[in-house]
Amino acid sequence: MIDCENGCLVDKPLGVAGQLSLRLLLVSTPLGPLGSGRGGGVELTLLNLWTALTEQGHQVQVIAPRHSQGPRPDIIEVEGCPPVPAQTQSRTSPILLPAHSLVAQMWEQVNGMQSEYDLIVNFAYDWLPFYLTPFLQRPIAHLVSMGSLTDAMDQIIGQVATRYPWTVGMHTQAQADTFTFAEHCYCVGNGFDLSIYDFADRSEPYLCWIGRIAAEKALEDAAAAAMRAGLPLKVMGHVADPAYLEKIQQTYPAGVIEYLGFLETSAMQGILRHSRGLLVTPRWVEAFGNVVIEALACGVPVIAYRRGGPAEILQDGKTGWLVEPDSIDGLTEAIQKLAQIDRRACREQAEQNYSLEVFGQRIEGWFQKILQVSASDL
Ligand code: UDP
Repeated sequence: MIDCENGCLVDKPLGVAGQLSLRLLLVSTPLGPLGSGRGGGVELTLLNLWTALTEQGHQVQVIAPRHSQGPRPDIIEVEGCPPVPAQTQSRTSPILLPAHSLVAQMWEQVNGMQSEYDLIVNFAYDWLPFYLTPFLQRPIAHLVSMGSLTDAMDQIIGQVATRYPWTVGMHTQAQADTFTFAEHCYCVGNGFDLSIYDFADRSEPYLCWIGRIAAEKALEDAAAAAMRAGLPLKVMGHVADPAYLEKIQQTYPAGVIEYLGFLETSAMQGILRHSRGLLVTPRWVEAFGNVVIEALACGVPVIAYRRGGPAEILQDGKTGWLVEPDSIDGLTEAIQKLAQIDRRACREQAEQNYSLEVFGQRIEGWFQKILQVSASDL
């Protein structure tokens, strides 16, 4: 058993199944409160990990922006000004920090409480937590939620990945491969509470598209393909760019797309589960694509561009169809082939590889590796 307290190995309590019980501090994205959708898939990833790690007997504390919601009310809430999202920056953009920076406030909180924890887990795709890594006494596991976007972020993540072995986690190999230091990263996949997604063996005549509504997600491609296929497209997600959504709504005749808002998971899956299929059309390299597994968990086949996380996850022809990136023709053809997919195979894939239990075990392996290396450096 490993603990870094005073530079020596000491006995620590055991959790369920005799495993080492760790004290973990999860530090959320500063982009928005947990449950708001502004942070994208990373919000659900943190909530899922919180549940998985607690069930495995670890002691978990969460720091998150004010008004966050989670499975327990004892979130340490922090106020401040959110950062500019990295995906809105160009490759050579400098790092920007607003006055009253929320990410700075959150990490000041971490600094004050770090001695109470064995490991800090960073969920923010932000320069500051990476930069602070050498100055904090506790090891930090950085779970990176996007691929390579800017030179400044690549540089700081790369420095941490090479200096602190295995502390940089990625969701997929495709995501890791967008960085030049992929061989120093640890691939953790993702996991979901599959009990909250209900399997539906029959579908109704509509398609779904789910995600943050922003240019990098290319909702317009899904709308074009749905119109050609003659099926309405139900759209759910946080509107990151209202002008972008408005333009799409004006481009397509009424009835082609129906925007339903940003819904809680239970309501979202209630609509998703009866759909013919989910269209996943990102223009960028999606790090993972939470919505892919959420659809599979409902028995809904997925049509995705052969790019990034979804291409790594989906079993082409078995749990969905992979199509040439940015091809509306490809999407339209795949929509015609949705009936060939056995919806049970979709649910089975989610159960086999993406349950909370499987994810929790993979994450535990990652944490143990970080703690072992960190202890051997003392
Ligand atoms: N989501 C939600 N309600 C909605 C639409 C989306 O809770 O109405 C969540 C969805 O469950 C997923 C996230 O938004 O966890 C989108 O994550 P994804 O990984 O697909 O993309 P990201 O936004 O991180 O690029």
